[in-house]
Amino acid sequence: MKHKMISLDDVTYERAKRMNNFSAWVRDRINILLEEEEAVAWFHCERCNLGYQLKVSKAKHFCCPPCRETFHLPAMIRES
Ligand SMILES: [Zn+2]
Repeated sequence: MKHKMISLDDVTYERAKRMNNFSAWVRDRINILLEEEEAVAWFHCERCNLGYQLKVSKAKHFCCPPCRETFHLPAMIRES
């Protein structure tokens, strides 16, 4: 294991102190976050009725080629 120091305010420090294994929790959260970013999902442009299989992390910056609509995640139908 390697060490990386993090800064906590008084409230989060007290909460982290009560956790059984704070380091394991941080590792899990980092891994879940990165796995979610790498996840592939289907996105649907309702205007063009076209579907695109995209990495979730890239979908925010993807434009539907026919209509140039930028995909904003809340406006899209997302299937896993
Ligand atoms: Zn479109």
